[in-house]
Amino acid sequence: MVRLPIDIGAVKGFMDAEEGAALYEAALAESVRGPVLEVGTYCGKSAVYLGVACKENGAVLFTVDHHRGSEENQPGWEHHDPETWDAEAGAMDTLPFLRRTLRAAGLEETVIPVIGRSATVAAHWGAPLAMLFIDGGHSREMAFADYEGWSGHVMPGGLMAIHDVFPNPDDGGRPPYEIYMAALDSGGWNEERAVKSLRFLRRRAD
Ligand code: SAH
Ligand code: MG
Repeated sequence: MVRLPIDIGAVKGFMDAEEGAALYEAALAESVRGPVLEVGTYCGKSAVYLGVACKENGAVLFTVDHHRGSEENQPGWEHHDPETWDAEAGAMDTLPFLRRTLRAAGLEETVIPVIGRSATVAAHWGAPLAMLFIDGGHSREMAFADYEGWSGHVMPGGLMAIHDVFPNPDDGGRPPYEIYMAALDSGGWNEERAVKSLRFLRRRAD
């Protein structure tokens, strides 16, 4: 298991310890080849697992979020946390929590927050990615925008991880499962590993 520099249980967020350990192992192996990018930062929980691995290799993690929350994080929804509400903005703001997490974990030089809409950032992105982790919006529109916008930025032979993949609809929403299937159906990716709701796909090198 991975040793983290902070008490990860105290960080707000949605990353299970076993899945987080798998992200750490994957980022440790992949980030020797280049940068890692995460879509869906929230307060930085998964970014700690990925970032600690990148730091060991002297690599970097870019983590993209508009910090205004997904649908299910909004007031009245299942995953709303009132502490993330910014009354002045009349909107959620998870960025202050992220900064606190990264400072406490000693990751300010390793994890680079990119604040904006995922599709907009993806459209302007240039650097080939050694590893991509998709954990952003769960609507069909958002999930497909993330897959279509970002998967092409993964290097040949690079890794893509997708969170919240639930083959059984009773376990959760379908769009992350649908993009995982779309990647397999495209013929450009091979399934490599599954840990709970996390799936790892390897981009074909040819
Ligand atoms: N990885 C996090 C959880 C991410 S929750 C953890 O370990 O806890 C999903 C995040 O995606 C939310 O913070 C939300 O603001 C962000 N998000 C949703 N849709 C987005 C979009 N279109 N562009 C950027 N960020 C988005
Ligand atoms: Mg998730």
